[in-house]
This record gives sequence, structure tokens and C-alpha cells, in this order.
Amino acid sequence: MMAGSGKKGPTADSARGNSSGDADGQRVDRRQKAQDRRERLIAEHRAEAASHTFETSDEVVIDGNAFLKPTAATKEEEETASSASVVSVGEPSSSTLSGAQMPGWQLPQIGGEDWQENPDPVAESDPLEKARVRLAALEGKSALMARGGAGAGGFSRTLSARAEEEVRHDQCAQGRRVAVYDEHLHAEGHALPPFEVYVHMPYCYRRCGYCDFNTYVTQDFGEGASQRDYAATAVQEMRRLRLWQEMTGQPSRLASTVYFGGGTPTLLPTRDLAAMLREIQTLWGLAPGVEVTTEANPDTVSAASIRQLADAGFTRLSLGMQSAVPHVLKTLDRTHRQKNVELAVRWAKNAGLSTSVDLIYGTPGESMDDWRTSLEAAISLGTDHISCYALTLAPQTRMGRQVKSGEIAPPSDDDEAAKYRLADELLSAAGYRWYEISNWAKPGKEDRHNLGYWRGADWAGIGPGAHAHYGRLRTWDSRHPLVWTRQIRRQILPWAGSEWVDDTENVEETVMLGLRLREGLSLDRVAQTAGMPVGAATLERLQAEDLIERFDGPDGEPRIRPTLRGRLLNDAVISVVLDDLL
Ligand code: SF4
Repeated sequence: MMAGSGKKGPTADSARGNSSGDADGQRVDRRQKAQDRRERLIAEHRAEAASHTFETSDEVVIDGNAFLKPTAATKEEEETASSASVVSVGEPSSSTLSGAQMPGWQLPQIGGEDWQENPDPVAESDPLEKARVRLAALEGKSALMARGGAGAGGFSRTLSARAEEEVRHDQCAQGRRVAVYDEHLHAEGHALPPFEVYVHMPYCYRRCGYCDFNTYVTQDFGEGASQRDYAATAVQEMRRLRLWQEMTGQPSRLASTVYFGGGTPTLLPTRDLAAMLREIQTLWGLAPGVEVTTEANPDTVSAASIRQLADAGFTRLSLGMQSAVPHVLKTLDRTHRQKNVELAVRWAKNAGLSTSVDLIYGTPGESMDDWRTSLEAAISLGTDHISCYALTLAPQTRMGRQVKSGEIAPPSDDDEAAKYRLADELLSAAGYRWYEISNWAKPGKEDRHNLGYWRGADWAGIGPGAHAHYGRLRTWDSRHPLVWTRQIRRQILPWAGSEWVDDTENVEETVMLGLRLREGLSLDRVAQTAGMPVGAATLERLQAEDLIERFDGPDGEPRIRPTLRGRLLNDAVISVVLDDLL
């Protein structure tokens, strides 16, 4: 619905021209119609907003201003809202017209609270506030409050075992468990997993028709929710999150990787990216040999900006190339030219950065020759790493709607399988080795940050919609930049929700993630996690059907990984293994 501003080219009548009297009358008519249309759109939005949250991946443009389009809320979004804490932020900046400021415009409903009417969260549901109260009761309020203002250097483990237990079993206002860290993980003899930091920058200069990421072309939603203020607000979230980790007794670990994703992080001035990285270093510390990646659109970097990134401590640049074929790029709404990708890679190499490009296959109208051209172009760049993703079209995206209406054909499974095989063949021949289903790298150049996700690392998620992982606890931030900013300015940890992964989900995660990797799934680990081994008959069947191969891991423990056929049918392999275990 309402997929645009209604701005169209001249009508046949206006193009033909009219007498001036008629023209004046028609201008008034047109203005009135435009006004009526605008009011109708706003009324429709208001009606929908009363019962829905905003689906952030879609926008409506009204007279040049992009607004979020309301669609059905997800279950998580309806449940939401936990929050809390300390640091204050600067004054709101001036703002441009935004949906939030439009008279009568409704804001997302979060946890049953209307944030326009009542922007204050339920303070007692805030995880940091809850930890604060517990500690105040258990260890003495004055000591706690003194620590609350401690700087980065003052962090140390403060919770007693009893307090940790209290927090672990605490419930948030919605009845969710807000336990903070699964001590059992290492109490059972496991080493602590690595710790990573992900920062989500939720702005792009235009929205690609296939994209359903949490990103916005509106640069300023008001109240400081803007691209310009993003870094300062993200820093405040980092500080509060670090304090929450401290107060809930989470073990202190240096960040082994940092990843700036989006959105388009390189739309920000380099000094903003550098400032956020400095804050991460101050709050968590960076491990020796840390990997620091930023995603980049080839149109938003220069030789100078890449050099500045390298000087600031960035070690890796991941470029959205998608295709080398102009008509495919056009279908994807990508504006860059292949020449810009080549320049960006060269600048990154000159600055000493590791390089990666993303490709997409299965775009409507892309032939096998087109895909071969893109693969060969990517290989010729000599990057360290290449990702190849099948095009998936969420129904709320522009291309998703075009597929639904029959305007374009949906991606075909057979076509995508053939293109995956071609990618694996050409990339392998060029010295890239697959290490995850969609990722190939030269030896030692794997994306360590994403490997951490698949291996079960812990990570902090900063920015609108960012997810985080602390042992068995999962949290996710409010998706809309305005809601997220408001929460932080209200001194709240800007979570939209959290959940505790139960034993069954833990088994599912272990199997699903392990079976994506070349390093494979440790059968001993599965047996320990599930409390039973994968049946011998199941393994033999999968092997006989050329879906898995069995091998020994570095310590001699038995492992399985998908064959090429198993990568193409990965969901089926995972289902068979899980059916055996659960
Ligand atoms: S540049 Fe990337 S994040 Fe931004 S709209 Fe396009 S695909 Fe989405």
C-alpha cells in the first residue's frame, strides 16, 4: 500500500497545456487533491498505528519525507520493553520534519506503552535498575551508588554469589527471565567463549528494493534520533551496557572482534566511527590482534577516509559489491559502478586493510553468464574474502511486493543451486576455501567476527535493532531509531526484549550453527548438549545420501560437516539431525 509519494510525471492534460484561467483552477484543484491525499494517508496511518507497531524495513514517502509504514507487529515486538540506567546525553539537536513530529502521528507501541503519551519505561522492569536494586539491598546502597558513577577503569566484578543467583532467577515485568550469564557454561569445564561487539548503524542514503534490514533513509527523526547524533547516542548505550554487565557479574573479557554493520556505517564521518571504536576500547579493551571490520558502500569511501579508518584501528573493510553487471545492479537498486568497487579495494589494500566483497545471486533477470561475470570480477579484485548470498525477498520489500503482484519472477531454487555450485567451483579454483555455507576466504582470512556467531561467542549489540548474546540470554534493542534514542536519553538500556534459551533451543542452535561450518559439528559436543548422541543409523543415512562427511577434529573428536550437496540441502540435514535428538 502507499508505496510512494504519489509524485508522478505530468499528466497528459498538463503536458498539452491549457488557458491560464483553466490552469489556475486546475492548480487549486491539484493542491486540494494533494492535501486530501496527504490527509487520507495520515488518517490511514493513524488507524493502523493504533493496532500495529511499525515494520522498520519499509517506508512511505509523503511529499519527499520518508515515514515508516505500519505493518503487523511481530510477536516479540508486541511483548517487549525492558530497560534501565545512568549516563545522560547531550541536548537534542534541531530536527527536520519527521513522522514523529507530524501532528497526530503515532509512535510505535512498545510493551503496551504508547511512547508518545508515556515515554517513560516501566523503571522496575529495567535490567540495570533491577541489578542496581538487588545490589543495593545485598551489598549496601551507599557503596553501590558510589560505583554507579565509576569510569571505565573502575569496573570490576562486584556481585556476590548470592546476588548473582538472585539476578539470574529474577523476572522482568513481563515475566521474562533476565538472567545474565550462564555460569553453568564454564562451571562445567567449558572455556569462556570469546566476546565480540557489534554496532548497527541504521541509515542508508537510499533503500535497495530487496533490503529488509533495519535501516532508514530518513536522516533525522527529531529528538536527537539522527544520523548526525548517532555516534554520541551509541556511545551512551555502550556505557550503560558495560555498567549493566558489571553489575550483573558478567566476566570481564576483551573484545576479540568489533563489527560495524548496517545500514551504511561509512555514511558517518570517519571521526564518528573512530570515536565509537575508541569507546569500545575504553570500556571493554581490545584483544591483541583484534579484528575491526566496517561494512561499506563503495560510493561512500575515499582513499583518505579509508586511510583514516586504518589509522583509527580498523583492520578490515567489507564492501557491498553484489554484482558486476549493470542491469543486475539496476534491478537491485544499487547505484555504484564496478569501478568504485575496484578503487575501494585498492585503497583498502594500500592502507593495509583486509578486504571482503559481498555478492548476491538469483536476482531476477540475472543469467548464468551474468553470475559468472560477477564471480570473475570479484576474484580479479584479489580480496581476502568473498561472501555469496542467495537473494531472498521478504514480502514487505519493494521487490517482494513485485514478486507477489507477478511483476517479476521469484528467484528459482534450481537457478540458485546452479549458481551456488558455480560459485564454489570458481572460488575454490581461485584459492578461496568455503568455511561457512555462504562464505569463502583465503587461508587465515576468514571473517572472525561472523565465525564467532556460528561458534557460540558472546557479543554485545549496540544500535537500533541490534541483537546480543550473553551465555543463554538473548537481548535485542528497539528497532526504531527514535524509540531507541528516547530510551537512551531517558537513561534506559534500550532493549525491546530479552529471552532465555532453554535446553531444547540450545540443542537446536548448536546443531544449526555447527552444520553451517567447514570445521563442522562436534558429535561429542552435541551429545553433551542434548544428553544423548546422534544415532548411528541417522549418521549412516546422511552419509550414504552424500549429505555429510565424517572426520576427526583437532583433538581427534568425531565431527560431521555438510558435503556440497549437504550445503545445498542444509535445512534438510539439520532437520534430520534434530529429529533424531529431540
Ligand atoms: S545499502 Fe545495504 S543496508 Fe542499505 S538499503 Fe541497500 S542493501 Fe539495505
